[in-house]
Amino acid sequence: MTKRYELSELIRSDNFIDGKWVAASGGKRFAVTNPATGETIAQVAESDAADAHAATDAAARAFPAWRDALPKDRASVLHRWHALMVENADELGRLISLEQGKPFAEGRGEVMYGASYVAWFADEATRIYGDIIPQQQRGKGMSAVKEPIGIVAAITPWNFPLAMIARKIAPALAAGCTVVGKPAEDTPLTALALVMLAHEAGVPPGVLNLISASRENAVPAVADWLADSRVRKITFTGSTPVGKYLARESAGTLKKLSLELGGNAPFIVFDDADLDAAVTGLLAAKFRNGGQTCVCPNRVYVQAGVYERFADLLSTRVAALKVAPATDTAAQIGPMINARAIDKIARHVEDAVNRGARVLTGGKRLPELGLNYYAPTVLADATPDMQLSCEETFGPVVPLFRFDDEADAIRAANDTPFGLASYFYSQDVRRIDRVARRLEAGIVGINEGALASEAAPFGGVKESGYGREGSKYGLDDYLSIKYLCQGGLE
Ligand code: NAD
Repeated sequence: MTKRYELSELIRSDNFIDGKWVAASGGKRFAVTNPATGETIAQVAESDAADAHAATDAAARAFPAWRDALPKDRASVLHRWHALMVENADELGRLISLEQGKPFAEGRGEVMYGASYVAWFADEATRIYGDIIPQQQRGKGMSAVKEPIGIVAAITPWNFPLAMIARKIAPALAAGCTVVGKPAEDTPLTALALVMLAHEAGVPPGVLNLISASRENAVPAVADWLADSRVRKITFTGSTPVGKYLARESAGTLKKLSLELGGNAPFIVFDDADLDAAVTGLLAAKFRNGGQTCVCPNRVYVQAGVYERFADLLSTRVAALKVAPATDTAAQIGPMINARAIDKIARHVEDAVNRGARVLTGGKRLPELGLNYYAPTVLADATPDMQLSCEETFGPVVPLFRFDDEADAIRAANDTPFGLASYFYSQDVRRIDRVARRLEAGIVGINEGALASEAAPFGGVKESGYGREGSKYGLDDYLSIKYLCQGGLE
């Protein structure tokens, strides 16, 4: 049996610790605002280290029973949670639009995407196999079993307020771990709603605990988890500098880490590509969430022979994109998340133009629509000295770089400390094989712009982090292997 909630019922403003909604111990709150209007949606708990610690205490108490629960019982709870997410997809989608700004269709799509991980890991919970190791010595039995790693701390960004945390909680719970979590300060409401549904689904008290904090207070709150030896794993999605900080600060208690960090994705269009397909793929990959995703193409390399034609085709399609508030059903791009984000986009475009880029379409803010709107933009004649070539712009801006041969394109694509997603379009099978093998990235899209799937291993190489989410590999990050050696068998 599932239950459908009104949006107002899904908006929770307290922390969720030990199965109860509780105010922050210091009694403070901070505002969560609508990025399109600046209006306050709710005043949520301003947690500190004491609240983080209380969450860990609850997770530690709940761990033995959850670890020992039958996998099929953990799976049933996750399946019920999945059903509640699907049943409430419209209202959760509205909540995502409200606090994050993405159009409703994308918000609802994110709910279904996040829910797909919950269903996937519900099934995987019952398939955590070990190994019987072939006998090496008479009278000795050897085997390897997998066990939950312990308490997991999950820290997530604002760009996918539901999917990023679902992708962490689901495998952790499936594995038998208990969780303490902190969503991004811009978008805690969707995560709190998700936890409410998890409780409704039967997740026992203490198994899943969530606290909210402003960016300032996130530091001491998370520091408590980093120093606490009971927390055995940090799973983080966010920027590379913060990921490095977490790795350094958790070294004192040698925690296992999964780090899903920033990208600077290349998108290569070869002379032999199907140009219409490449434009469609680029639009899908680039403009999802207004360009605010870690797998968004940030650098588009186009071979000289098709450069002008591709630029024309692309600019025409980009100029037709509808920028509007999330409440407008025709909206394809909403507001950016906050003033800091839109200032960075404007800075990158200005820097590129000062260094010789040509604006083919867009290139300006859209204050007439409200706060934080930026026009979808195509820039021609981009060069490697521009800021947008080295750093994620995280907005609706496509810079077009020109290249002559395949080796140059691969060199340029790999010339970055990051290695999350990459894309290329070509119809030459031998080139496809060569380029796919040489790109330094955790994910390669070949003649395809939409890569996300719960069945696929998602994650990066180089400074985009380590660990994988989704797929049959996704549980490994939450398990440790125990070797059992039994003597005296003969
Ligand atoms: P961020 O690193 O600023 O923040 C992420 C989370 O970390 C937030 O919850 C924030 O409160 C917390 N945080 C920040 N500083 C902290 C500190 N010193 N101590 C403890 N917690 C701290 O990232 P963001 O701006 O929210 O998200 C955008 C970034 O996330 C981009 O770089 C994007 O590429 C990346 N991202 C990566 C993936 C992926 O799967 N690889 C997915 C989505 C986003």
